[in-house]
Amino acid sequence: MTVNVHQGDDDGLDYERYLAPGHKPEDDDPKVLRARIAAVRDLHHPVTVSGRQVCGGCSVQRTPHRQQAAWVALIPHPCPTTRALDGAAGDQP
Ligand SMILES: [Zn+2]
Repeated sequence: MTVNVHQGDDDGLDYERYLAPGHKPEDDDPKVLRARIAAVRDLHHPVTVSGRQVCGGCSVQRTPHRQQAAWVALIPHPCPTTRALDGAAGDQP
């Protein structure tokens, strides 16, 4: 049996990806992909801390025992994930 594998063309089906372990049909559904991108954007929403906008998903907040929550790591917004979603030059693989 001969299988035609088209790599890098734009005909819509990447045969190797289709056969990859864990591949689900919805992985190629534009509606599902847009919803997943929106979910990632929601995770990486901007939060204002001490007058600075930081990424709510990448920055780290801890709540020591019986104390108020405190930010322990602040990652500026837009973070590298948001910049990659926006297609910023230099952030793409
Ligand atoms: Zn982030």
